[in-house]
Amino acid sequence: MKATHWLLAGTMLFAGTAAQAQTAAPEIPEPKLIVAIAVDQFSTDIFNEYRPTYTGGLKRLAQGVAFPSGYQSHAATETCPGHSTILTGSRPSRTGIIANNWFDPANGRAGKDGKASFEVYCSEDTSVPGSNSSNYTVSPKLLKVPTLGDRMRAVNPASQVVAVSGKDRGAVMMGGHNTTLTMWWDGKAFRTYDASKSAEPKAATTINAKAKAEIDKPTPVKLPASCATHSRAVAVDAKTSLGTLQPRKAGDARAFRASGAFDALTMDLALAAFAEKKLGRGPATDVLAVSLSATDYVGHSTGTAGAEMCTQIAALDATLGRMFAALDKSKVPYTVMLTADHGGHDMTERNTENGLPNAERVDVALLPSVAGKALAKELGIEGPLLLGDGPFGDIYLSAAVPAEKRQAALDAAYAHYQNHKQVEAIFRKAEIAATPSPAGPPEDWSLIQRVRANFDPERSGDFYVALKRYVTPIPAGTAGYVATHGSPWGYDRRVPILFWWKGVAQFEQPNGIETADIMPTLASLIGLTVPETEIDGRCVDLVAGTKSNCR
Ligand SMILES: [Zn+2]
Repeated sequence: MKATHWLLAGTMLFAGTAAQAQTAAPEIPEPKLIVAIAVDQFSTDIFNEYRPTYTGGLKRLAQGVAFPSGYQSHAATETCPGHSTILTGSRPSRTGIIANNWFDPANGRAGKDGKASFEVYCSEDTSVPGSNSSNYTVSPKLLKVPTLGDRMRAVNPASQVVAVSGKDRGAVMMGGHNTTLTMWWDGKAFRTYDASKSAEPKAATTINAKAKAEIDKPTPVKLPASCATHSRAVAVDAKTSLGTLQPRKAGDARAFRASGAFDALTMDLALAAFAEKKLGRGPATDVLAVSLSATDYVGHSTGTAGAEMCTQIAALDATLGRMFAALDKSKVPYTVMLTADHGGHDMTERNTENGLPNAERVDVALLPSVAGKALAKELGIEGPLLLGDGPFGDIYLSAAVPAEKRQAALDAAYAHYQNHKQVEAIFRKAEIAATPSPAGPPEDWSLIQRVRANFDPERSGDFYVALKRYVTPIPAGTAGYVATHGSPWGYDRRVPILFWWKGVAQFEQPNGIETADIMPTLASLIGLTVPETEIDGRCVDLVAGTKSNCR
């Protein structure tokens, strides 16, 4: 099925949903505004490590209903798949967002260099002539399912849905197909789809000017007292040490993205939209989805355990505190949910120093480009043989391999990965397709079940590679990119799922739930019926005591 088919079927699907809409659960005050926040790369490990230090918004959230063992349950723990689960109630196997980038070996598009590119970016419109995965038009077209906001607007078009993020894919995947406003940072400014530019809050101009000023001025370091113990230099290579705060140079837009100032301005924009569009004050419940990206950029550029991340989490806590103050002041009845699109893992060099055995960087021989070249030579086939976004995950056999050589090529590629000491497991496409969609506690799923949760028969690769635990899929620590996520292991799958509303009775459930459970749970608070067959998640009980918000 092509993604656009959902849109055609959408009217009928929603007509049924509208007729079934019920009144909200009386145990929890019905929100007029649902605020859904994704903190990019905010793992359960980070949430727990800094929990004693929270004084702002994270303190309030930690004292609401807390599921510290939330799971982005799938194997491909990347930004786009993760964001696609949060407000759809579905795993990537159903949202179609199986990775940030996947490949369509049968359909090459001419790239800037004139060469055909087979890569597809998750939130692009592939039908735009001359576009490709790195020079694209932002669109929700590839998301195969409706979001919470899409469902609410189908029932009552008076519902407003606003999505704001530091990344286009964060805003697109949480907002969905039919938003009032979708805004993201494009590297230089916050922007929206051109067609709906008039829907931008007036304050966007001022906020973009502030962002430019923030990038243009050098920013000195200011280490919070609680981060002193995290401040220790760790050598990544002969020239680079990380772990201590470094001043931000004037004009460094990439360093700005990895700063608390970036999240603060993203939140300013979200709060401006909240005020200008009078969210929560109309006839229907509204959605404000916010994805804060700086934590992810800090994780990638400096790892998860240094003074840089400690400082970022303190800034995040303050930004969320400021958000709560604004929401409180408005008197709008609101419910906040906060989670993450995936977890994260510290850089290899500090992990090694901090007592983690077997922390290593990936061997370049596992890169599809490198492996493909060697295999092509061996088999006497011309051109790149393997396509893939990195040394793990979905790997595709090039369409250029002739039919009579395809099986031999696949077998050789398979053997190359299987025999490598850094590879934990490889699964062939047929084997994954034959695996039932997993059920039960996500912490207990087998590896192939995790892979099945991001399997899409038309988008997934010919085989899927899982690296061993603690192998970082970045061959060498280069400045700006030293650590990452994306693995099927707990450190990348575990994320906090937190709920707060005024008068919440605090409780904590340490056992696993899925991020796909968030949407049906939020739907229960506003009496929106979501047919079970359309999603993978379930409504989770948020009421301490014998009552429940779930029916
Ligand atoms: Zn992410």
